[in-house]
Amino acid sequence: MTKFTDLNLNPKVLKAIEEAGYENPTPIQAGAIPPALEGRDVLGIAQTGTGKTASFTLPMITLLARGRARARMPRSLVLCPTRELAAQVAENFDTYAKHVKLTKALLIGGVSFKEQDALIDKGVDVLIATPGRLLDHFERGKLLLTGVQIMVVDEADRMLDMGFIPDIERIFSLTPFTRQTLFFSATMAPEIERITNTFLSGPARIEVARQATASETIEQAVVQFKASRRDREGSEKRKVLRALIDAEGDKLTNGIIFCNRKTDVDICAKSLKKYGYDAAAIHGDLDQSQRTRTLDAFREGSLRILVASDVAARGLDVPSVSHVFNFDVPGHAEDYVHRIGRTGRAGREGKAITICIPRDDKALDAVEKLIQKEIPRLENPVKPEPKREKPARSAKPEAEARESREPRTEDTRGGRKDEKPAQKVDRSTSGRGKHGKRDDKVVVGMGDHLPSFIALSFAERRAS
Ligand code: AMP
Repeated sequence: MTKFTDLNLNPKVLKAIEEAGYENPTPIQAGAIPPALEGRDVLGIAQTGTGKTASFTLPMITLLARGRARARMPRSLVLCPTRELAAQVAENFDTYAKHVKLTKALLIGGVSFKEQDALIDKGVDVLIATPGRLLDHFERGKLLLTGVQIMVVDEADRMLDMGFIPDIERIFSLTPFTRQTLFFSATMAPEIERITNTFLSGPARIEVARQATASETIEQAVVQFKASRRDREGSEKRKVLRALIDAEGDKLTNGIIFCNRKTDVDICAKSLKKYGYDAAAIHGDLDQSQRTRTLDAFREGSLRILVASDVAARGLDVPSVSHVFNFDVPGHAEDYVHRIGRTGRAGREGKAITICIPRDDKALDAVEKLIQKEIPRLENPVKPEPKREKPARSAKPEAEARESREPRTEDTRGGRKDEKPAQKVDRSTSGRGKHGKRDDKVVVGMGDHLPSFIALSFAERRAS
């Protein structure tokens, strides 16, 4: 087995690795570090959780330890699809470069230009950026990319999903063609293949086994659920979610709930909070400081439940997440593997529960095909409500009553969602079309003494 000491890394980097507690390089590290140190281009086909970040940061630090940065001309560039990933890469540099003198700047949206400009003006060894923000700086004439010796593209497949490929091509063309390129993607879609053929030269290709099979330490389950009415689907689904959370009890130390749509991320988080759960949302439309605060709280353990979209949670490195809930079956089967891979990390136990409505059956089939196994079915913990004579308004729990006042929201897949909680109304006793079947239990505010003329007109009104 390869050891870190066999890899020709700078001794100061080795010291930092030891302090991080890593014993041996992961396969992507053992494969990518030697060619990267030789100055070769690298094409790494690996996804998050494989140790890929260190597979480019460790050789970069070793290579950059010699030489000095020049004003406005970064010596290396790391492009990441999301702010969170960029921040995480920056943290990795802090960890592994702690005994080496290197300067870095993080160029991400939601952070003021002024501070970033000042750092770049001084000169940085490592510039970590999201593509849009980098180009903003470039266009403002604050940045020259002609000094870039090493360029990293991280999570290229996600860049493709997010429409960043034209930006990436432009950035490639702004850097010297003599640069070294380290390129990482979890999958090799044709468009990614095209980019690598165009911009990489004779790369060392390192592919680590696709994580199509989720870790064995993750217990998986699916709850199939059909709403009583289409317009109640959202609220009934959230009820199922709460019941699933409750059923896990103390075993749920911290969990991530994934939703396919940003609107649902917000609604779910809001609704959980109203019901007294310690939950917060994270998705791309929230401002950066809020996202950072939420993530930090989740990492530190002061926030128990994170409700997230795929993009926001992609690559997030929280070492021990006890549970993952899929509020929806993801549209791309591979996202299922990414999502549930947030739990059961490093040999720990984890549980992943997915809610599947009939509309998502096809997506569930695709997931099961990809992971090549049938996910065990779990009984819906919410039992159908027994039919009531009348909707008993006063019996509605406080939080449920509050949720019923939540605003109507748009479901991007189809019709409006009425956020009223499920309330069974037995039409057979509601008197429609029949004659005056008087329901004398439910006239509020009259005490026991209901004058008969009121009761009569009430019954007649209902019968009409
Ligand atoms: P990544 O795939 O870069 O997101 O890394 C996933 C996790 O693996 C991170 O928590 C790293 O700190 C950790 N890690 C990276 N390299 C090693 C290693 N050689 N041994 C143990 N853990 C590692």
